[in-house]
Amino acid sequence: MFSFPDDYEEGWTLGNEIKKDGIGLHTGIKCNVIIRPTELPGFSFSFSEDADKVFSIDISHVRNTPLCTTLDLDGKKISTVEHLLASLIGSGVTHAHIEITGREIPLLDGSAMGWIEEIEKVGMVHSTTSPKPRPELISPICINNGESVILAIPSENLKLIGLIDFPYKAIGQQMFSIELTPNNFVKEIAPARTFGFLDQLEELKKAGLIKGGGLENALVCNGDSWVNPPLRFDNEPVRHKLLDLIGDLAFVGLPRAQIIVYKGSHSLHNEFAASLQKVLT
Ligand SMILES: [Zn+2]
Repeated sequence: MFSFPDDYEEGWTLGNEIKKDGIGLHTGIKCNVIIRPTELPGFSFSFSEDADKVFSIDISHVRNTPLCTTLDLDGKKISTVEHLLASLIGSGVTHAHIEITGREIPLLDGSAMGWIEEIEKVGMVHSTTSPKPRPELISPICINNGESVILAIPSENLKLIGLIDFPYKAIGQQMFSIELTPNNFVKEIAPARTFGFLDQLEELKKAGLIKGGGLENALVCNGDSWVNPPLRFDNEPVRHKLLDLIGDLAFVGLPRAQIIVYKGSHSLHNEFAASLQKVLT
């Protein structure tokens, strides 16, 4: 029986390849994803139409978009990469290659569980090459973006504390704190689904966004209540915010730090990742 690694100290790749397809949230188009074991440290991408051209991803490839994290690989974009990358890095995978047909990673049920179940099926093996070094903080890092804040303090253990505050009664103020290990990620973070708001749903559809979005791949909030309960955790939204943060950290690696994030967003995470990159170089 496969079990996830105990910590993030060793190099792991997949035991076999994973194939999965699904509908892209923003494009509404079917996309195929193949995740392969590799000896190349970190995470790399290629497009099926030009499979030999491998992009080893880092923060220079990240483009900020309001609703998801997009990669720009020589002018070709791949959107909604964050949940897949969170599944890999969060579960302890340090080496993986992702080949995509289409331009968007499928959202599946809005959480990371679809990917985690596939990783469990193929298992993991030790990589023959060393993983990329994890960022070591020399001093605390603080990033502000409007009223959003990220504060990271050097620490041997990786601890995440998420805080959110929404003017909707169904969500309100939520806090979640976790000492991150692959097992804790799989149990406590990976099942948390993305969430949206009913009043914004129609606007986004009109704007040509979220063509593939629906009640099956996001929790939808209608002010005082949820349109499609039950929730998987009372504080599922704040847990999902940490899932997004972990995915956005895949571009630099999981730092050795205690991280407090208040009202996180992809742009805040990406600014934080950029400052971690400076620690690495
Ligand atoms: Zn998300």
